[in-house]
Amino acid sequence: MMRLCRFNEDRLGLVKQDHVIDVTAVLDRLPSFRYPLPKFDPFIAELDSLRDRIEELADGQPGIPIAELKFAPPVANPGKVIAAPVNYRRHLDEARADPEIHHRNRIAEIERVGLFLKATSSVIGPSEPIRVRHPDRRTDHEIELAVVIGKNADRVSAHRALEYVAGYCIGLDITVRGPEERSLRKSIDTYTVLGPWLVTADELTDPSQLSLKLSINGELRQNASTCDLLIDIPGLIAFATRFYSLVPGDVLLTGTPEGVGPITPGDVIQSEISQIGAMTASVQAYS
Ligand code: MN
Repeated sequence: MMRLCRFNEDRLGLVKQDHVIDVTAVLDRLPSFRYPLPKFDPFIAELDSLRDRIEELADGQPGIPIAELKFAPPVANPGKVIAAPVNYRRHLDEARADPEIHHRNRIAEIERVGLFLKATSSVIGPSEPIRVRHPDRRTDHEIELAVVIGKNADRVSAHRALEYVAGYCIGLDITVRGPEERSLRKSIDTYTVLGPWLVTADELTDPSQLSLKLSINGELRQNASTCDLLIDIPGLIAFATRFYSLVPGDVLLTGTPEGVGPITPGDVIQSEISQIGAMTASVQAYS
């Protein structure tokens, strides 16, 4: 039962209510690697075996108030970031209805179009600003439940898929609208925000009814539940592993609900997912 974050300069923290306890010392227990480096995240891979030590290190330690911390993405080295296109019915309807979203791209059902990949270099934590790279083009917010894979997974069935999950966090899949492939438009530096912490799968056992809310400058824009996903979390994991294997630290963005809309420099994005928490991200001009 834990919430883990990465904060400030590569510190590892255990989140307890509104404080974070520094448990960075546990990382000394990770194996050291020589070149070539592994393709998985070494901390996520060892998470289960490190739990007791994390609790021991945290015991009796004073915490740092959350408000004083800078949050980095909870996974330091994701091997890949997988994303689900239009995986909510009402977002499919709005994307098909709005030429500024579809740009004459045929918006197909997820069962037909499948999944896509975002460059891992696009990943940031919520304390780093999103930097708008193409101010002349529409750039949208998309809140998504992010799933972090905890074990090697290959051709897994949906009914066992949740056994492969390390935990969950909030994801923002920032998107330039336009005619190019999704992987190009969504892989811009800073366009994948993950945070504020990883809630482990033993604490969040059922991801099928989580509420997602996103506000821009205090105005509610997206408000939905993962119960409306077209392909649910186990189904997405099973789908992905029919094509490629998943390794510890891989991140799966599960799709955004209706209500997507543009962001501009100066905006503050507040996002919230039940059983995970809330995070604030800011938008700046690229410089
Ligand atoms: Mn998305």
